[in-house]
Amino acid sequence: MKVLKFGGSSIADATRIQRVIDIINTYKNKETSVVVSAFGGVTDELIAIVKMALMNVDYAKRVQELEQRHLKILTALISNKKELEQIAQTVKTLFSEMVNLLKGISLVKECSDKTLDYMMSFGERLSAMMISQTLLSQKTDCVFVDARQVIKTDNVFGAARGIGAKVDLEKTTTLIKNFYAKNKKLKIITGFIAESDKGHTTTLGRNGSDYTASIFAAAIDAKQLEIWKEVDGVLTADPRMVNQPFVLKSVSYEEAMELSHFGANVIHPSTMTPVMEKNIPIWIKNSFNKNAIGTVIKRDGGKDTQDVIKGVTAIPKIALLQLKGNGMMGIPGSSKRLFDALAQAQVNVILITQASSQHTLCVAINQANAVEAKRLVDEEFRLEIKSKEIDPITITNDLCIVAIVGEGMRSAVGTSGKMFSALGKNGVNIIAIAQGSSELNISAVVTEQDKYKAINVLHDAFFISQTTTLHLFLIGVGLIGKTLIQMIQKQLPTLQEKHLLDIKILGISRTQKMYFSEAGISTQKHESILEEKGEKANLAKFVKTMKDMNYSNSVLIDCTSNEEVISYYEEILQHNISIVTPNKKANSSTYKSYRTLKTTAQQRGVKFLYETNVGAGLPIISTINDLLNSGDTIVKIEAVLSGTLNYIFSHFSAQNKFSEVVLEAKQKGFTEPDPRDDLNGMDVARKIVILAREVGATLEMKDIDVQNLVPEDCRKIKDIEAFMLKLQTHNAHFETLRKKAEDKGEKLRFAAHFENNKAKVSLVSVPASHPFYNLNGSDNIISITSQRYLKQPLVIKGPGAGADVTAAGVFADIIRIGNYVK
Ligand code: ASP
Ligand code: MG
Repeated sequence: MKVLKFGGSSIADATRIQRVIDIINTYKNKETSVVVSAFGGVTDELIAIVKMALMNVDYAKRVQELEQRHLKILTALISNKKELEQIAQTVKTLFSEMVNLLKGISLVKECSDKTLDYMMSFGERLSAMMISQTLLSQKTDCVFVDARQVIKTDNVFGAARGIGAKVDLEKTTTLIKNFYAKNKKLKIITGFIAESDKGHTTTLGRNGSDYTASIFAAAIDAKQLEIWKEVDGVLTADPRMVNQPFVLKSVSYEEAMELSHFGANVIHPSTMTPVMEKNIPIWIKNSFNKNAIGTVIKRDGGKDTQDVIKGVTAIPKIALLQLKGNGMMGIPGSSKRLFDALAQAQVNVILITQASSQHTLCVAINQANAVEAKRLVDEEFRLEIKSKEIDPITITNDLCIVAIVGEGMRSAVGTSGKMFSALGKNGVNIIAIAQGSSELNISAVVTEQDKYKAINVLHDAFFISQTTTLHLFLIGVGLIGKTLIQMIQKQLPTLQEKHLLDIKILGISRTQKMYFSEAGISTQKHESILEEKGEKANLAKFVKTMKDMNYSNSVLIDCTSNEEVISYYEEILQHNISIVTPNKKANSSTYKSYRTLKTTAQQRGVKFLYETNVGAGLPIISTINDLLNSGDTIVKIEAVLSGTLNYIFSHFSAQNKFSEVVLEAKQKGFTEPDPRDDLNGMDVARKIVILAREVGATLEMKDIDVQNLVPEDCRKIKDIEAFMLKLQTHNAHFETLRKKAEDKGEKLRFAAHFENNKAKVSLVSVPASHPFYNLNGSDNIISITSQRYLKQPLVIKGPGAGADVTAAGVFADIIRIGNYVK
């Protein structure tokens, strides 16, 4: 024997009801019992109509609509005209009874809990009756059961206020057993409703149909109870909050209760008691997807998986009430008095923490109760507050509780450590902590603003088989930015599949426009989206929006070369957002600000990565750090770090005059718009200062000895064309230098040199044996001499400029963050 229960949304319209009927028909065993709720939304509508009647608002139309809704369902489901007529008549009779009752209510302007419960009972009486009649007319034999015949309760009313009557289980069980002894057919049973010992209609409280089903299942010793909902089973988290929660195969009764207590809409805890005592398994199944296996809730259901926890949940809109003061230590029973005061106000205490010094006592309650709670507690302790033994009660609003739940944590050391470090890494501030002594849950109070982030961070941290998502915010969609987006698009399927890493671009800004999307911006259509939907670009607003969106694993990608963006870096890192950038302005400004950014990133547990600051995608900075972290000491760095200057000097020859090569490089787009920005050596100086700082030197830009290749008389010329002309007058000078080198069998290179805390950037002449001698085109080379690489330096060589390699370097940094947060 099995008991099935279908909730309101599974039977909200004719199509859904037919689907449920099809499910019922797959149960061959005649002794199957089906408990149903009212059709979706009907109970709420009945309450609303009563309220209208009380307030003298015309409710007649609403009642008619509700009646029409029921009749329409019948018409859609029953094809036999005569049968349809008969059943419609029964529906109409029930509605006219309802109308009479409403007339009474609106006349006396009063509706007791008892009357309201009776009004609500129409919902289930209609739905169960109609479904059983439909089954009969579709040739499935069954019997309609009005549960009031068998479920007996005390005389307490008030479902609308969350109060259900207490069931006399002994009496009820006997009545159900007797009933089943006489009736062997498929049963369609009203959920929710019962009858008091005085013969009045009572209810089991809102959402009470689950309880009805549980009572029946326990009474008949059913093999299992099936609760059919609109989800595939019990999920690891609320799908409205977490990207990809998954369905659990099984959970224990305790875990299910704990998950429900902490806001997951699994099953009402009290519902479970009857079946739990009989050890009857409960299956959560999906009426919209009958082939999904579902989740089983059973006694040893906690042990079926390897996972330490089963779910991550949240209780929103919490207030923290704090009782504090030196006097607390000496006042006996202060906690008892606190809880009595709260109980008096019918305030449910959700979480308690007390410091061992006994100075403070904190309770989390529903925010809706906060004002009343404070009033009563202040009142209770008014004498102590007056004598300053206790401070006036403080209330902190706009908080929520996030919790991890699972039996596995009993044996897993370090679960709370993992929880708090995951939250910490993402900058979620924890206001209070509690662990149930059952070791079934660990809860943390955080701000409502951090709720989504916290839940996602925890879900990611504990369900490692699941994908981690990086949330990107991109500023600058020039050549590098665009190439990066293309790379992400191309690589994403592999990352998702092989590395369980997902990347979402939540915000993009370019010079004119910016655009945000919580769902992620299409990598394919970002240009047209920005064009059509984008708002006016505004850097301050971009940063603020990014902070407010407050996503876990957020990363800012700065693909500009602006000073303006870097002025926000510190603030961004402070908000636990990582930064990846090829923009070298930040790291080559003052040493102090370089240090601050690095320290902030470290303190906040986020990454500040800039591999592409030097040598584009070549692994220079990461190599230096690998050497240092593994205990090596760097003695010397020699490098050609400007692709532009290397192009110029490797093409410069007796035939190709210096000014001509510069022009050629400019025309090919290898130089800055003004080639003097390359020739002045500052770009190389910035790069060597960054490398020197990585090695540990505290150098400023002014400490660097820079050879400026722009001749004196060319420096002040405003016009670029005019400068290019003037440069021709210096060809002889450059040719002399070149010839001198050539005569010695050497070549000119513009190199950076760092040794003994000093850095220099200058034109050097290198012999054929030197590694720089054969450096062609716009390549970069860096030679690192360290304790370990003393005789033969470590050399890294390759393309050191270009959108492709730079974007690839940025992408590699992004993936590095992905691996770090996993
Ligand atoms: N129809 C009732 C309610 O909405 C009972 C139930 O659905 O379980 O509360
Ligand atoms: Mg993960």
